[in-house]
Amino acid sequence: MSFPLRPSQTKIVATVGPACDSREMIRSLILAGVDVFRLNAAHGALEDHTRRLKAIRDAEAELQCSVAVLLDLAGPKIRLGEIPGGSLECHANDRVRFVKGPAASGTGELTTTFPAVLDDLEVGNRVLLADGLVELEVVEVSTEAVICRVVQPGVVRSRQGMHVPGAKLRVRILDEADLAAAAWAARHGVDFVGLSFVRTPEDVSALREHLLQHGSDAQIIAKIEKAEALDRLEEIVAAADGVMVARGDLGVETDIARLAVAQKKIIDAARRHCKPVVVATQMLDSMQHSPLPTRAEVTDVANAVLDGADACMLSGETAIGRFPLESVAMMHRIALAAEEYARSRARDGLPVPQIVSPAREDSITEATAFHAGALATTLDAKLLIVATHSGKTALRISKYRFGMPTVGVASNPTALRRMALYWGIIPLAQAPATESHRLLPFVTRWAMRRNMIAAGDLIVSLRGTGLANDQQNAILVHRVTDTPPTDDGP
Ligand code: PGA
Ligand code: MN
Repeated sequence: MSFPLRPSQTKIVATVGPACDSREMIRSLILAGVDVFRLNAAHGALEDHTRRLKAIRDAEAELQCSVAVLLDLAGPKIRLGEIPGGSLECHANDRVRFVKGPAASGTGELTTTFPAVLDDLEVGNRVLLADGLVELEVVEVSTEAVICRVVQPGVVRSRQGMHVPGAKLRVRILDEADLAAAAWAARHGVDFVGLSFVRTPEDVSALREHLLQHGSDAQIIAKIEKAEALDRLEEIVAAADGVMVARGDLGVETDIARLAVAQKKIIDAARRHCKPVVVATQMLDSMQHSPLPTRAEVTDVANAVLDGADACMLSGETAIGRFPLESVAMMHRIALAAEEYARSRARDGLPVPQIVSPAREDSITEATAFHAGALATTLDAKLLIVATHSGKTALRISKYRFGMPTVGVASNPTALRRMALYWGIIPLAQAPATESHRLLPFVTRWAMRRNMIAAGDLIVSLRGTGLANDQQNAILVHRVTDTPPTDDGP
C-alpha cells in the first residue's frame, strides 16, 4: 500500500463527478490524499450517487482505510426557470421582466424556481444571475412582474443560480428532492450530510429530525452561504456537527470583498464550538484546466490551513476538471508546507491562532483529552493514540491542535469514518480498538513500519478503562523498545 508517506493533517474533501467516478480513479484519489468524498445532490441523479458511493466503499475496502462520504443537499437555491432557446443575452441597460408563471413566453422574460421571492423585491434591489456575473437592478414592481435594468451585461442560461442579496426567503429548508436525498443518505449510511443555504438553527434541527426518523445519526455540516446564516452563526454552529465556508454562494449572497473576513469568522466560531470546519470552492480552480495552480490559489490554500481550517475542499477540480489527481496532490503538498510552518511557529513560541482552549474541563473526557496531549507535548512523544467510541474524543484532540502524529482507533466503522474529517487524526481501520493488550503493539508496529517512531521514542495513548461508561479516562505512556512488538499487525 503506497499511501502518502506523510498524510497532511489538514483533511482533503474531493467532490465526485464525471471526471473521477470510476473505482480506479477513486482509489488513486485516496492514495493521493483524499479523506472525504463529497457527492453533490444538486448535480446528478440519486442512481449516479449510488454507483459512486459503491465505487468509494469498494476502494476503501480494498485499501483497508477509512474515508468518509459527505452528501450535499441542494437546499433552497433560487434558480432561473427554463429560458426559451436556452439562454438570454443581457446588454447594458436592457429591460428584463421576471414573470411568475411556469415558463417565460417572450424574449427578455425570465422565470424563477421560487416565484415567491419576486413578492419580496423592491425598487433598487440587486438581482445577481450566473454566480454574480450578470447584475440587474429592480426598477419597477407590479403584481404580475418585476422589471429590472441590466447593470452588468452578460449571457444567462436556463436553471442558472439567481441571487437576491439580503432577501429573506419564505420557503422551507428541505423540499421534496432534499427529503428524498436525505433519506437516501440515511439508507446508505452516509457519514456527513451538507445542509445548503441554511438560515437558522431550526433549519439544522429539521434535517436532524428527518435523518433520525430514517434511522441515521449522520453528522450535519451547515453550509454557511447566506447573509442570514452569518447573522446567526453562533447558533447555527452550535446546532450543527460541522460547518462549511461555502465561498461560492457566500461570495454572491454577501459582499465578495468581505469573503476573507467571513472565512476567518466562521473558522473562529467553529473553533470555539469545537466543530470541524471545511473551506470550500475555487481553492485550486484554475486546475480544472491547467496542471498547475495560480500563485493566488496556492496562497489561498495555505492561508486556509493557517486560519485553522480542518479540511479544504475541491469542487470542479475533481468533479469535472482535467486534472483531478494533480489537484489533490497539489493541495496535499501545500497543506504539508503550511503545517510545517505552523509547527515551526509553535516551536518558536509564536502564536498559532487556531488552537482551542480547554474551556470545559468539567467534562472528564475533555480534560483527559487535553492533558493526554499536553503530556505528549511535554514528553516530546512521537505518537498519540486515541481510542474512541463515537469519535468525539478524537475531535477534541484534533481541535486542540497538539500537532504530533495522532492515530484514532474505534471499533465501529462509523466513528472511524468521522475521524477522516478531523484535522490531524489518522483513522486506523484495522486496529483492534477494544483489545487493550493488542492495540499498543499493533499501532507501534504500524507506526514503526512507516518510520513515524523508532526505538526509544515515547507514545501516549488515551482510552476508556471501561470502568466509567464510555468516558476516556486512562492515559498511558509507553516507550518503544528495540524489538518491534511481534503481535500480528499491518
Ligand atoms: P456548492 O457549495 O458547491 O454546493 O454550491 C459550496 C459553495 O457554495 O461554495
Ligand atoms: Mn453553495
